[in-house]
Amino acid sequence: MEGFSNGDSGDVVLAIAQRIVENRGYLSDIDGLIGDGDHGVNMAKGFSLAAERLRGEARPLAASLAASLATLGDVLMTEIGGSMGPLYGVMFSGFAAALDGVEEIDAPAFERMLRSGLDEVQSIGGAKVGDKTLIDAFAPALQAFAAATAKHERFAAALDALIVAAEKGRDSTTNLVAKIGRASRLGERSRGVLDPGATSCAIILRAFAEGAKAKLGMSSSSTLSEAQP
Ligand code: ADP
Ligand code: MG
Repeated sequence: MEGFSNGDSGDVVLAIAQRIVENRGYLSDIDGLIGDGDHGVNMAKGFSLAAERLRGEARPLAASLAASLATLGDVLMTEIGGSMGPLYGVMFSGFAAALDGVEEIDAPAFERMLRSGLDEVQSIGGAKVGDKTLIDAFAPALQAFAAATAKHERFAAALDALIVAAEKGRDSTTNLVAKIGRASRLGERSRGVLDPGATSCAIILRAFAEGAKAKLGMSSSSTLSEAQP
């Protein structure tokens, strides 16, 4: 089965953090339209603190994906205000818990990881698809990944399906009325703009999937070179 090693894939978390930091202004601008304009600031603060902590660890490039996700989850949970600290905190801790002890991350392990993170967010946040939250990007992304692997598509193709579905789900939030969180106070007036959390979630999932694809590319070429006589 195709997969990549958990043990040296912690740098994928640094790549996710970088994408969030790059989108700081954009995410806060969107939040300014239906919220209080702090989403990018909160997110960039949390993800850059986590990246600093990861870089400061003894062997940052040799960190496992599970350990790096756990660090990110802890930092978001303890250091970040707004709704997103706890929500993304439990998401990344849920990812980490599902990968604990897994050596080779294949598509079923990746799917279990996604499901664990989604379950955690829904168990503390209670949002469903259609409530105009990050769940509108995350739930269809997981569904598309699972559907692709059920059809025996390659791991990389399933990751592509995940990216497409996350971005389509993010776009679907424009036409939704917020049912939960700060934007729900606006009622009908929340319609017509993207949800900031769905937007950051699509960025995270794209960066994660691209990071995983890059790792898959590396492991397939090393398998090939090992196979040389
Ligand atoms: P705050 O709303 O406290 O200012 P942020 O601006 O950082 O926090 O985040 C807002 C985003 O949080 C929303 O766009 C939405 O996607 C997400 N969100 C809010 N409440 C929930 C919830 N219960 N479940 C999932 N996501 C939520
Ligand atoms: Mg906000």
